[in-house]
Amino acid sequence: MGLKTKEDYFDSLRRLNLRLFMFGERIENIVDHPIVKPSANSVAATYELAQLPEHEDLLIASSHLAGERINRFTHIHHSRDDLIKKIKMLRLLGQKTATCFQRCAGMDALNTVSAVTFEIDREFGTDYHQRFNAFLSYVQKEDLVCSAAMTDPRGDRRLTPSQQKDPDSYLRVVDETANGIVIRGAKLHITGALNSHEIIVLPTRAMRPEDRDYAVACAIPSDSKGVSYIYGRQSCDTRKLEGGEIDVGNPDFGGQEALIVFDDVFVPRERVFMMGEHQFCSRVVEVFGAYHRSSYGGCKSGLGDVLIGAAALIADYQGTSQAAHIRDKLVEMTHLNETLYACGIACSAEGSELPSGGYLVDRLLANVCKLHVGRFPFEMVRLAQDIAGGLVVTLPSEKDYKHPELGQLLQKYLQGVPEIATEARVHILRLMENMTLGTGAVGYLTESLHGAGSPQAQRIMIEREANLEHKKQLARDIARVEQ
Ligand code: SF4
Ligand code: FE
Repeated sequence: MGLKTKEDYFDSLRRLNLRLFMFGERIENIVDHPIVKPSANSVAATYELAQLPEHEDLLIASSHLAGERINRFTHIHHSRDDLIKKIKMLRLLGQKTATCFQRCAGMDALNTVSAVTFEIDREFGTDYHQRFNAFLSYVQKEDLVCSAAMTDPRGDRRLTPSQQKDPDSYLRVVDETANGIVIRGAKLHITGALNSHEIIVLPTRAMRPEDRDYAVACAIPSDSKGVSYIYGRQSCDTRKLEGGEIDVGNPDFGGQEALIVFDDVFVPRERVFMMGEHQFCSRVVEVFGAYHRSSYGGCKSGLGDVLIGAAALIADYQGTSQAAHIRDKLVEMTHLNETLYACGIACSAEGSELPSGGYLVDRLLANVCKLHVGRFPFEMVRLAQDIAGGLVVTLPSEKDYKHPELGQLLQKYLQGVPEIATEARVHILRLMENMTLGTGAVGYLTESLHGAGSPQAQRIMIEREANLEHKKQLARDIARVEQ
C-alpha cells in the first residue's frame, strides 16, 4: 500500500467496524460525527503533511526493516537525528492543529515494544522481537495509526493488580489457547482510540510474580470482537453540535480520548509481545514514559506557538500591543514555550543507542521536559487570559452575533481598533477560550499535567536518574574533603 493520503486515511477509518458509545447511545457513522470529525482531522494532518515536499524531511523516514519510505509516525528511531526530527515534527503538527493530534502515543508505543521485546528475548530466549517486527512491517506498509492502551482503571491504588477486589481492575490474560490468548479489562483515557487502526496494549506499572497474568503486551485491530469504546467528554464539546463555527474556537481540529473495554478479546499468538515476563513491566513503563515525555516538548510547544500568536493578535486588535507589560507578558510566554522545546531537543540530542539498535532519549532530561510541561502551559494560559481580558469568558454567542438586531449592537460594542473587523476579534477570543477552557484545554492543560504520567512519576524518575553520588564527589573534590 505505502504512504496513505488524507482521503485514504478517512476511507480506512470508514471501513472499521468500531463499537462506540457516546451520550448513552451507540454511534454508527463515527468518522462524520460532528464531535469526532475534528479529532480525525487532526490525525489526518499527519498524513496530509507527509505528502508535502516541504515537510518531507520531518515526516518521511526510511524503514529499518524494508528500507521503504514510511511516515515517521511508524518509524523506529535509529539515531539522535531521528529523535530530534520527531520533536520538530510534533511541534509542526501542534502549530497546524492547535490540539492533540493523537498519533504520537502509538509511535512511542511502537518504539517501546521494539526495544523491550529485544531485551526480553535476550533474557528468556523468547521470539517476541521477531513477532513484533512482523507486526511493525504491516503497520509501516499500510501506514496505520496505533493507539497506546496503557493506563488501567487501577481500582484501589494501595493494592497490586492481583490483590484488587475486582480482578479486572487491571487488564489481564484470562485464557490461553493453542493459538493465542484471551484478554479482559479496560484501559482509560486512550488518546485517539477511535481514530486508530490498531491498539497496542501495554502494562501500566511494575508487576510482581503473582501479577504474572497482568504482565501482557500485545496488538489487536481496533475493531476486534469484544472491544467497545465509551467516548470521553470534553468541556464545551456539545458546541460542535450547534452547527456554527465561531463558538467552537477551533472549528477544524480537536483531540480525542476514550475508555476502551476489552471483553474477553482473543489475541493471536503472533501478536503477543509479552506474556508473564513481569520483570520487564517496569522497563516498558520507563521506556514509554521517556519517549512520550519527550514528545510533549514538541507538541505542546507547537500549541504554545498558536496561543502566543493568538495573544499577540488580540493585543493588536484591542490596541494594547505597545503597552510595556503586554510585550513583557508575550516575552514571558515565549520564554516558557521555548524552554519546553529546548527540553525536547535536549533529551533527543543526548539520546543513546539501545541494545535493540533503536535510540532512546536521555531519560533524566525527558522527565525534566515533562515536569516543565506540567507547569508552563498553565502559566501561559494565565498570561494569555490576562492579555485577552474578560471577554474571553463573557462573549455572547455566535447566534447573537448573527442575529440582525443584536448583531449590529455587538458589531458596535465589541469593536476594538477600527481597522480590524469585530468578527476577527471574536474568532481569536474563541480560539483562546478553546485552548484555555474548552475542548482544546484537554490537550493543552490537563493532558500536559497527567499525560505520559503525572508530575510525581517524573519526580520519582528524576530522583532515580539524578546521580547524587557523582555530584557529591564533585563537591568533595572541590572542597578537598574525603568523607
Ligand atoms: Fe501527541 Fe502530544 Fe497528543 Fe501525546 S499529547 S498524542 S505527544 S499530540
Ligand atoms: Fe498524550
